[in-house]
Order: sequence, then structure tokens, then C-alpha cells
Amino acid sequence: MSVFDHPEFDQHESVHYFQDPQTELKAIIAIHSTALGPAAGGCRRWSYVSDAEALTDVLRLSRGMTYKNAVAGLPFGGGKSVILADPSTSKTPGLFRAFGRAVASLDGKYITAEDVGISVEDMLQVRGETRFVSGLPQSGQAAGGDPSPWTALGVFLGIQAAVEIRLDTGSLRGIKVGIQGVGHVGHHLCRLLHDAGAELTIADVKREHWQQVDADMPVTVVAPSELLSADVDVLAPCALGNVINMDSISRMRAKIVAGAANNQLSNSHDGARLVEQNILYAPDYVINAGGIISVAREYLEQGSEDEVRNEVGLIPDRLRRIFTEAQTTSKATNRIADELARRIVADASSDADDDLAEEFSQPAS
Ligand code: NAD
Repeated sequence: MSVFDHPEFDQHESVHYFQDPQTELKAIIAIHSTALGPAAGGCRRWSYVSDAEALTDVLRLSRGMTYKNAVAGLPFGGGKSVILADPSTSKTPGLFRAFGRAVASLDGKYITAEDVGISVEDMLQVRGETRFVSGLPQSGQAAGGDPSPWTALGVFLGIQAAVEIRLDTGSLRGIKVGIQGVGHVGHHLCRLLHDAGAELTIADVKREHWQQVDADMPVTVVAPSELLSADVDVLAPCALGNVINMDSISRMRAKIVAGAANNQLSNSHDGARLVEQNILYAPDYVINAGGIISVAREYLEQGSEDEVRNEVGLIPDRLRRIFTEAQTTSKATNRIADELARRIVADASSDADDDLAEEFSQPAS
């Protein structure tokens, strides 16, 4: 099948394939849109079943980044990269140098950073080959470093906003939250939720990851297969995408879905299915924008940690507006968010009104 016929191909500007036999790099970089600025989005290292699965992932993820950056009011378009990794090979500096050369060859059209399977150290190797990279070690109080604590903070604040609207309480004390995946973001999120008095149920396919959280705070650990139907108020998917689908929705007991994972819905109709079940969904790319806000500030050399915190603090207001519109129109929240993101991008493309992104990125009056 040609890329152009792929069901997830959505007017992507370009898709680039790279391989470097010496370091065994196999990577795809997809640039969905540069209407708002250079395409920014992280790099994922994952063991895909096939090249086709990797292409599907990078096409979906890069479009998600266009929408995420637009709604967050950032001067960036959307792009993403995936490194197809054989699980038997370990990460080497050479692999990331080769990936850095791939990014450099796009001459600034794509800016990379961390996503699943990638660390700050890996991005330092990339920096040896290109300046189009962010998520590098923090210097002093300037924005920078691992974006996942910021992602977790935005998700935490978003869960508070969702709980306020759907469960009619301003406190998380005693609220039961299920966290699927307690890696970089999930672990930070557990800490914030626990400190706010929430009761946590967690699952992770990696024993060492759930054990670390279990050692840190009181949690109930369940098998990954049980988490989606666990008896919780809030379900926070913080592992991989496609977890909200016809099957999982039919088994879900949560009243809210609000987590960090990208592409949580297996397709856009799942948003309507959640509405039918009276489950409030916080659109993934709205609630999980904390990391890209930090990455953007760092890349633009604009601002301090405090400014990142303030900007991440705008996420719950954006969600409240979407939740309120959903209540008044009965539309699914994912549809409202997608329409908003597409309007912002279209306005930037036509230069008609670039105030929309700015207006939406401000707190509600
Ligand atoms: P991570 O790799 O550190 O953590 C993911 C965790 O999920 C791992 O512990 C993994 O073992 C676990 N996992 C995988 N499949 C699972 C399953 N079926 N059931 C239970 N656990 C499973 O990644 P991360 O950086 O924490 O990111 C988590 C999600 O959030 C990803 O979807 C990522 O794209 C998204 N996200 C991350 C950031 C960020 O700042 N890191 C920003 C925005 C979105």
C-alpha cells in the first residue's frame, strides 16, 4: 500500500525513511504540518510488529502533535519520529548519532525530543549532530530537561478539572484512580495523585516499574489485563495508544478517562461511545501538553521553570471549555478538540486570523 493510500494519511506534508546499517538505525520521521511553525514532536523507540505498524503509529502521532501544539498555543507544527528497534539490541550512542544526522538532514523542518523509550542522555547524543533537538539537560532554573514531570503535572491538573465537572467535587481525596503504565509520566502522576489523597490502582507490564511505585507509596497493583475494567472513578492511560476501544469501553467502570498516553482512542467514534456510557473523556493531546510546553520553552530559550509551570496551569481551563461545550452541545470532547485544532491550523494557513490560537491559550475570563 502506498503511504498516500494509508488510512491514517491525513495530508501529511512529508514522510521520511532512514536506515543506517552500521548502527542498525531504522527510523521514520513524519511531518504532518508546518503551518504554525517547524514540526515539533518526540521520538519513540519501540519494537513494532511490522514496518506497517510503525508507519501507522508515526502518521497518527505526528497529526496528534499538530493538534497538540495548536491547542497549546505553541508556535510549532506537528511531527514525530519512530525508531524501529529490535528488542535484542541495546541502545547505543552511535544509533542516536545516526538518528541525529537524520534529523539534521531535514534542515530544521522537524525538531525532536523524548517520547517512549528515549532518555535525556539519548537526546544529548542527538545534539552532537544537530541543533534541532530539545529535552536536553536543564541548565539552572531555565526550562529544560526531562519533559515527563510537566506532562504528569498537566494530567494531574486535568484530572482535577474533570473530577470537578463529572463528580462534582473539588477534592481528589478518596477518588479512585487507575493508572495504566507507571513509566516516566505515570510514576510522577502517581506521586501527585497520592499527595492529593487519591486512592491508586496501578498496572504495568514491566515488573520493576510497578515495584518502584509500590515501594514509594500505597497502591493496589493489578494485572495489566484487569486495569481497564477496574473499579475506579478515573482511568488514566499512561502507557501506549489504542486502549480505548469498543471492547474496553463496554467493560469500563470509570466515569472519567484522563491520562497521558497519545492516541488513546482507537478511532474517533470511540469518543461518541464514551458519551453514550456517560464517561467524560479529556482529549489526550489537550491534557498531555505539559511536556511539549517545557520542550518548546527550552528550544526557544524562552523562560524559566516557573513560566513553564504557569503555562501548564492553563491546561485545566482549556479542558473546562471543552467539557462545557460538550455539555451544551452533546458533542464528544474529542470532536470538539479536533475541530478547534483544525480551525487554528486552517486560520494560520490562510493567515486569516492567527488570534484564535492565542485567544484559546489564555485563561478563561
Ligand atoms: P514510558 O515508556 O516511560 O512509560 C510507559 C509505561 O507503560 C512503561 O512502564 C511500560 O512498561 C508500560 N506499559 C506498556 N504497555 C503496557 C500495558 N499494556 N499495560 C500496562 N503498562 C504498559 O513512557 P512515558 O514517557 O511515561 O509516556 C507514557 C505515555 O504518555 C506514552 O503514550 C507517551 O507517548 C505519552 N506522552 C508522554 C510524554 C512525556 O513527557 N514523556 C508527553 C506526552 C505524552
